[in-house]
Amino acid sequence: MKAIRTFTVRPVLAESLAPLNRLASNWRWSWSRATHALFASMDPDLWERIGGNPSRMLGALGQDRLDELARNDEFVARVGAEDERLNAYLGGDRWFQQLEGAKPTGIAYFSPEFGVDGSLPQYSGGLGILAGDHLKSASDLGVPLTGVGLFYRAGYFRQSIGDDGWQRESYPLLDPYGLGLTLLRDSAGSPVEITLDLPGDRQLHARVWVADIGRIPLLLLDSETPANSEEMRRVTDRLYGGGGEHRLLQELLLGVGGVRAVRAFCEVTGRAKPDVYHTNEGHAGFQGLERMSELITQDHLGFDAALAQVRASTVFTTHTPVPAGIDRFPRDLIADFLASNLFAGLDPGRALALGLEDYDGGDSGVFNMAVLGLHLGQHANGVSVLHGEVSRGMFGALWPGVDTDEVPITSITNGVHAPTWVHPSIKGLSERAFGDAHSAAHDWTDRAAISDGELWGVRSQMKSELVAEARRRVGAAARSHGSGVAPAWIEDLLDPDVLTIGFARRVPTYKRLTLMLRDPERLTRLLTDPERPVQIVIGGKSHPADDSGKILIQQLVRFSRDPKVRGRIVFLPDYDITLAKSLYPGCDVWLNNPLRPLEACGTSGMKAALNGVLNLSILDGWWDEWFDGENGWAIPTADTASSDEERDDAEATSLYDLIEHQLVPKFYEREGGIPLAWLGMVRHTMTELGKKATSDRMVQEYVTRLYVPAAEHDAALRADGFAGARELSAFVTRVKESWRDVRIDSVDSSGIPAQAQAGDVLEVSAGVRLDGLSPEDVAVELAYGRTDEDDDLARDHALYRLTPVGETVDGVTRFTGILPLTVTGSFGYTVRVVPTHPQLVSPVELGLITYAS
Ligand SMILES: *Cc1c(COP(=O)(O)O)cnc(C)c1O
Repeated sequence: MKAIRTFTVRPVLAESLAPLNRLASNWRWSWSRATHALFASMDPDLWERIGGNPSRMLGALGQDRLDELARNDEFVARVGAEDERLNAYLGGDRWFQQLEGAKPTGIAYFSPEFGVDGSLPQYSGGLGILAGDHLKSASDLGVPLTGVGLFYRAGYFRQSIGDDGWQRESYPLLDPYGLGLTLLRDSAGSPVEITLDLPGDRQLHARVWVADIGRIPLLLLDSETPANSEEMRRVTDRLYGGGGEHRLLQELLLGVGGVRAVRAFCEVTGRAKPDVYHTNEGHAGFQGLERMSELITQDHLGFDAALAQVRASTVFTTHTPVPAGIDRFPRDLIADFLASNLFAGLDPGRALALGLEDYDGGDSGVFNMAVLGLHLGQHANGVSVLHGEVSRGMFGALWPGVDTDEVPITSITNGVHAPTWVHPSIKGLSERAFGDAHSAAHDWTDRAAISDGELWGVRSQMKSELVAEARRRVGAAARSHGSGVAPAWIEDLLDPDVLTIGFARRVPTYKRLTLMLRDPERLTRLLTDPERPVQIVIGGKSHPADDSGKILIQQLVRFSRDPKVRGRIVFLPDYDITLAKSLYPGCDVWLNNPLRPLEACGTSGMKAALNGVLNLSILDGWWDEWFDGENGWAIPTADTASSDEERDDAEATSLYDLIEHQLVPKFYEREGGIPLAWLGMVRHTMTELGKKATSDRMVQEYVTRLYVPAAEHDAALRADGFAGARELSAFVTRVKESWRDVRIDSVDSSGIPAQAQAGDVLEVSAGVRLDGLSPEDVAVELAYGRTDEDDDLARDHALYRLTPVGETVDGVTRFTGILPLTVTGSFGYTVRVVPTHPQLVSPVELGLITYAS
């Protein structure tokens, strides 16, 4: 008989064990080695069986065992010590508190998924895990951030693989209480309920769960509440479950409901209202419309002033260079919602226009969440240098006339939370050698601090753990189908002494799960080489609706079951954070072979690198930026191939060649049993990527480059009853109206001798028609630098601002300047006019720019 609902009945803890409740309900346990170990030690087998979660553990242990532990002085002392460590962690000043200058009072960080721990499956892949790591580093650094997301009752699915190799999905229901979340209650003790008015007199209600991620509250909205109709209860049933209206309702709840949840949370707790809003990908875009509606109804701003205020305080991060990865809704569906009471005071037509693909190459029947994100976020970024470049090209049509390089989307490269992703054995080694578990300053190349034998010993031990874990998982999966007994070959599955390549990811086509199968005979030879074999460990989930991904998984699973290679290549089902944590450290090499440039950043390779794993990857995402020739290998990209087939063939051949001619010899060349050259690369990787690949570095960049400017802009526009917002919006309206007639009448230069040479000066004077605008409204700029054979200015050209001189005569204002010629070679320049205002982040963000012709 199957229960339709399950919940956890908590035991009563003796006073000496009371801190366990607090320790269990702060997710810091998931990255604190000692707290984690404390809970696991209460009953190691049970810990494994219940999926490693302290709140579940307390519910599952039974009163007898708890009473026994309460009488165990050593255990009680450990509980006390961990409680003190948690207190110390939650109090005191951190990096953020020590920052000088203006700072945000709070940042609300919206994401459709959060990957905090394997026992809280509210993520499908990289985007969510990045969001989880963002919260954890914000906590470590003392950044006053509040996470905002949804609570999906069934989370993302669990994967098993049938005898036919086909992916099966199951959706175990989650019990939020039993996981360590608390319900947000008002001062009278009643659950806070958020309500959205929908078209057709429907209402969507939600309660709010709070997960404490160290210092960071994560608010998760849950539509499973008695106030809702059956239909509305299903809104937060699954992560990315449905399409169309289901998905839209999720995004409205996240954006609109999320802002309301933040308001309620600040009211109940007395926390300062956030001044910066960060949306991780476009799904939470409606938060901006909700905030505009607040400004219009409560602060009596007009549409344009409200837009200016919201833009100033919003950071938008785009994550996908794949157009299919962006949420797009039919225009009419959104128009219905905008015409309802949901967004009080907001002009429905103008709000709709903020998300329409009303540009060259767009479809104006489509409401695009990335377009909405870019219109509502004055501070926008991609997630690696290459992805920033790709995004500027991809969204450039929103700024017609603006050079792609100047499209106002910057980049901040992703990072990973080291305390979460570094294996306990490496942490132990690091504490022994350097005195602390994590620091960007650790020099792993220092052989006096860590000997070759010690480092190789830890690497080998982590591999043995992976081998044992793989056998356990494959054995359990085999026992759960068919005869109930695991076949004997599983006992020889994988070998801790063999060069081990790991490859695991979600399975969209661009990630090319099966590239390694391009030449099955060659792969088989590599796997079965009698002297120097290779073994491969694979994982990955396909989106439940994506059969093409499931076919790829099936191909791999079938190949791996061939007795010829069985034992040397294995597919581990149910790739999630828990599997990832043993998979990455246990490999020698981490493989990634996406179609360049479709991987925005990628983070699994960084997690592997922090554990001393070398990367073998296409030069895409973060690897394009940080591959340095000594931290792994780059698979050459076959850009000139004439077809996808040819490209896959060429890149697969390069992959096999690298493995055979570079990886294998280096790995198997030993001195005293240790591959010294290989280990040199490991040391270099851990040192160099340890400095860059962390989410501490990433969050610090978000704070200094985006959050602080956003808070400053927000304050400037908000001051004096939003005088700045009104003034900026009036400016924008004025320049937009006049811009059509702004023209550069003439450009004169003098002072260039027939033979210009370095050190000469160029005097430039431009006559500009401003049509009612004043010289202070514009910047007239000289763009100059080297030119190519088509007379195009080089991408690294410079800008020099000309100054207005004299009176305006017949509508023409003169701007002049003197430029020393410092570059040699073929040189060119042009003159352009852009609007200028202290509260613009980029001179071209309004898409207004006029060049001399
Ligand atoms: C890190 C991680 C990802 C994302 O890795 P990519 O390199 O971006 O593909 C996906 N799933 C899990 C479980 C992870 O830990």
